[in-house]
Amino acid sequence: MTTSAELFEQACRHIPGGVNSPVRAFKGLYRPPVFMERAQGAYLFDVEGKRYVDYVGSWGPMITGHADPDVLGAVRERLNNGLSFGTPTAIETTMADLICEIMPSIEMVRMVNSGTEATMSAIRLARGFTGRDKIVKFEGNYHGHSDSLLVKAGSGALTHGEPSSPGVPASLADHTITLSYNDIDEVERCFEEIGSQIACIIVEPVAGNMNCIPPAEGFLKALRHVCDRYQSVLIFDEVMTGFRVAMGGAQAYYGVSPDLTCLGKIVGGGMPVGAFGGRSEIMQELSPIGPVYQAGTLSGNPLAMAAGVALLSKIREPGFHDALAQRVDTLCNGLESRAHEAGIDMITQRAGGMFGVFFTGQRSVENFAQATACDENAFRRFFSAMLEHGVYLAPSAYEAGFMSSAHTPEDLQVTLDAAEHAFAQMTS
Ligand code: PLP
Repeated sequence: MTTSAELFEQACRHIPGGVNSPVRAFKGLYRPPVFMERAQGAYLFDVEGKRYVDYVGSWGPMITGHADPDVLGAVRERLNNGLSFGTPTAIETTMADLICEIMPSIEMVRMVNSGTEATMSAIRLARGFTGRDKIVKFEGNYHGHSDSLLVKAGSGALTHGEPSSPGVPASLADHTITLSYNDIDEVERCFEEIGSQIACIIVEPVAGNMNCIPPAEGFLKALRHVCDRYQSVLIFDEVMTGFRVAMGGAQAYYGVSPDLTCLGKIVGGGMPVGAFGGRSEIMQELSPIGPVYQAGTLSGNPLAMAAGVALLSKIREPGFHDALAQRVDTLCNGLESRAHEAGIDMITQRAGGMFGVFFTGQRSVENFAQATACDENAFRRFFSAMLEHGVYLAPSAYEAGFMSSAHTPEDLQVTLDAAEHAFAQMTS
């Protein structure tokens, strides 16, 4: 049997860092990543045959658990018709109709192949629609790896962003303004100064890439208000939150309607899919009707659409999201009480089917500065102990956890028992 450590060594020969997406490398966790062989329901099985209760769910899509028979069945049914035609197919319309019905703020939608493509295209569209170049994003929000969005707050505070990766031109970063999440005053000051130059605000309506940080009371409404006042486009990046915090996404959960929405993850049922959509007036600027160019060889791929349509149809069942949120409550309350009993400073935050665990003495975590002030070393020890006890959490202190409907009360109990051991190890 080849172990994960051996596979990782082999992978590093021809794959940079041995992985095709950085977070998979377990960097900073002082151990090689675990190579998985297969997955079923709430479980992952590694190449050495060990089973884990999984709270990553392929980073979000697997909301009904892995290898869902309805999703696999829908893909199987289409498989023999061919993989891709590069022509319109009827199932693309089925998908578009379904998305527009589930999220009423979306009047028209275009399918793409990833969340990154969705946000990149939505930004271009917002710029084309408004004729403005500047965009506003928030520190600690992640919107994929396109150039305009790989930017952090620069020294010029409100006016100059700095590339957060080599290879992003400083001249492009200059157009991206990065503000503090949940800080309404800062947003208002920024718009008072340069509002007429701002094409759009892009925001994770629940931040899931700096652990799990829900929006402060009134934050999303304030963004809506300021965009209306300055005729900027409000973009909700619901790649993670869409169909997860509620069927209608964070926009339904918090009752705030964006102009454009970006989707990914669940919308593809585990296949490489993204989408962006919104008000017809804006979407009609897209080619071939309008002048804003956007395209994709494999966009709307029939197998990917089949997987997504099957999953979305399944989770529309009444009560699905309430039950998911209840599981999250059981898990988070259980973790908090066990940490408390062990004398460990830890809190949880949640929204619908997503959650986060913070090692901090604070009562809540509301922005990037507070998230990065948490005890990363405590997280590392917790993560390693949980892995050892058969629970697979996101291998980073800055990622949200995802619940699925396949997690049974027994799985939650196994997780809480593992946490009890982990906390005991951490205090010994
Ligand atoms: N937007 C958000 C909120 C995300 O969480 C992610 C990925 O995790 C993306 C965009 C990028 O999506 P993808 O990895 O499919 O390119």
